[in-house]
Amino acid sequence: MGAATQTTVKAPAQFAGVGLHSGSECRISILPAPTGAGIVFRRCDIDPGAADSRLSTLIHGSPDNVAGCDHGTRLANGYGASVSTVEHLMAALALLSLDNAIVEVDGPEIPIFDGSADHLVAGLKQAGVKTQDAERRPIVIGEPIRVDDGDRYIEFTPGDTSAIDIDIDFGDCLIGRQSLSVDLSNPADRDRLAASRTFCRLYEVDGLRRAGLIRGGSLENSLVVDGHDLLNDQALRDPHEFVLHKALDLIGDLYLLGRPIRGAIRAVKPGHDLNVRAAIAVAQSISAEAQEASPLAATA
Ligand SMILES: [Zn+2]
Repeated sequence: MGAATQTTVKAPAQFAGVGLHSGSECRISILPAPTGAGIVFRRCDIDPGAADSRLSTLIHGSPDNVAGCDHGTRLANGYGASVSTVEHLMAALALLSLDNAIVEVDGPEIPIFDGSADHLVAGLKQAGVKTQDAERRPIVIGEPIRVDDGDRYIEFTPGDTSAIDIDIDFGDCLIGRQSLSVDLSNPADRDRLAASRTFCRLYEVDGLRRAGLIRGGSLENSLVVDGHDLLNDQALRDPHEFVLHKALDLIGDLYLLGRPIRGAIRAVKPGHDLNVRAAIAVAQSISAEAQEASPLAATA
């Protein structure tokens, strides 16, 4: 692979559906954006008010803007505008190597569709990918970076690779223990990741509902596991669908960094909380590197 250039969508891509947690019907339009813009959400249903005009409705896709990671990743700006469940959209953009886009959304949450990123990837492909006149600069992992939480961890190590090794352990039910290696440069792996659906266990459902979550949840948009049974009529799309989906969530959360990662990633029992901590740790390592490289560093 030579030096790649940044990309955006060729034409607007439009989608509509129900939010998993809010249950609200939302429409989104993914629009072209200039080089260096990154992924920017705009809540077009919020009155921007007089003072700071459009700024108050813009929410940058960045690990710094994560305001919650309970069963989904929620971004917010300093004006109180937020958008929930961004991870599958961020993953779709990552899988297509789309660097720059404005995501207009007329409600509080990105729709869940069928629980996977397939519909988003298909719609974005149909809109087309346009190459732009600026180099893409991946984040190159120089020193190992690791975040832990008990026996869970995510680790980045140097290497000319975009491979992810991931383990999950739900040993008490159908999901079981799954291990998988995926390579984002492999189109077949990208297709498997995009098709994998979100999942939960039946005993969690009551608690999630009481917490005001999954109001839009159904067997149409989530795999639901009860012990060793799958409650959905449809079969799994892939024998590794559960671990693939955990990898998809990780890819989406890490794409909040706004640039692809060059280096090996190993994740053991990841989840949105750990994914976001990992993204923040990577962001901190690149800002520390930039400071060391700065001619002002010696005098600072
Ligand atoms: Zn997910």
